[in-house]
Amino acid sequence: MTPTATAAAPAAPAARPEPVPAVLERLRATFRAGRTRPLAWRVEQLQRLRTLLREREAEAMAALRADLGKPALEAYGGEIGFVVAEIDHTLAHLHAWARPEKVSTPLANQPACSTIIREPLGVVLIIGPWNYPLQLTLGPLVAALAAGNCAVVKPSEVASHTSALVARWLSDLAPDAVAVVEGGVPETTALLEQRFDHIFFTGSTQVGRVVMQAAAKHLTPVTLELGGKSPCIVDQKVDLSVAARRILWGKFWNAGQTCVAPDYVIVHEAVAGRLVERLRATLTEFYGPDPKASPDYARIINERHHRRLVGMLGQGGQVVVGGEHDEAARYIAPTIVQDPPLDAALMTEEIFGPILPVVTLRGLREAIELVNSRPKPLALYVFSSDRAAQEQVLAETSSGGACVNDTVAHLSVPDLPFGGVGDSGMGAYHGRAGFETFSHRKSVLNKSTWMDVKLRYPPYGDNIKWVRRLIG
Ligand code: NAD
Repeated sequence: MTPTATAAAPAAPAARPEPVPAVLERLRATFRAGRTRPLAWRVEQLQRLRTLLREREAEAMAALRADLGKPALEAYGGEIGFVVAEIDHTLAHLHAWARPEKVSTPLANQPACSTIIREPLGVVLIIGPWNYPLQLTLGPLVAALAAGNCAVVKPSEVASHTSALVARWLSDLAPDAVAVVEGGVPETTALLEQRFDHIFFTGSTQVGRVVMQAAAKHLTPVTLELGGKSPCIVDQKVDLSVAARRILWGKFWNAGQTCVAPDYVIVHEAVAGRLVERLRATLTEFYGPDPKASPDYARIINERHHRRLVGMLGQGGQVVVGGEHDEAARYIAPTIVQDPPLDAALMTEEIFGPILPVVTLRGLREAIELVNSRPKPLALYVFSSDRAAQEQVLAETSSGGACVNDTVAHLSVPDLPFGGVGDSGMGAYHGRAGFETFSHRKSVLNKSTWMDVKLRYPPYGDNIKWVRRLIG
């Protein structure tokens, strides 16, 4: 195990990494000393993080380009600017969120005052994936710091440039309260052996199970932001041009490597042919005749994932658009596969890449049945101009989140809690939901002593008749 703890002052290349237990002990001492509790401290850290994101934006863009070939707009909109917006929203509301919340006190407990106090949890662990390596480490960190916690951040080793950048940046932020441990499975396994006060994991459902099992040993609560296959239902009453643009934007942004990307489309047979034609034309509008030459199209993270994705092609269904690939360039063309068999890998495994299956069904009922026959997805999209159809899909399916007539964009609304359900995860964050995730809601009854009704004390005599009246 060779964890690279970067919490201390920027280490010289040959410096020995600080062992994980020592990192934790240092952070725990900070937390126990109460240094992270004052709102002023929390605000200061968020402002400093904001400054880092603003002043060193070019550095972040370069790391994201090196890892994923992220176009500048996607790097800004999905990572840098996204976290800045989350910080701004948090700074605007933090004092209100952190205020003790008064609740009513029943007569039997009067005279008294009841409040819910949000207290920080302690030292939390944040484990990130590679697809949004900045947003999905710094975003949860914003919530953890806002709630007054210390945090260990473990970025994904797969996005190695951004992992190094996160380690560099955070080593300057608050060295006794925030630490970064870089590495892969052995380093994460070593971290998971430790006792944390909360674990916030973003990644695959499979590794989510590993995390939850490790957390159970210490009774550590977990937030699991997992993956899955997010369906996109296209009804017959629909503006096909708008639908095509919004589906393709959500699917091919970051070359399909987005947890809430529409994984597959289910289209009403009455509009299937026209939808595929619109999708084809819109792809050309987006990326030109040769998407490989487009500056607006990202690359696959590594060769392993490239091979996995190419392996999914050629398993049935007709490739109607794209299909070209180049492993050396980590390029897969935006690809549409029409009507693959429902038991093909494309329709049973999370795709997480630029391949869009379009499945034709006879109507909403069949679409809903198909969705409900599978694990609950992280997101579900429905395109329809018919209010009844929109409501039917929302009422009869379950998903972490949903958009009507759009894809992906719900996650940019900070007041909408973002998280999964069932196999796509548990718990949520963004905005107030993130602050709540990293806070304990302590219930406090504060009683006055000027009156002490004796009914509850022995000897009870026939007090029960009064107790009945009081309690109801
Ligand atoms: P992953 O589960 O392979 O890795 C996530 C993290 O876990 C990484 O930091 C990795 O180092 C660590 N890890 C990997 N294997 C481990 C093991 N055996 N034991 C302990 N730690 C281990 O996920 P990924 O490939 O980085 O990301 C892709 C997945 O993440 C997709 O399924 C995607 O849908 C999901 N995802 C979900 C969200 C969300 O918000 N719900 C966001 C992005 C990605």
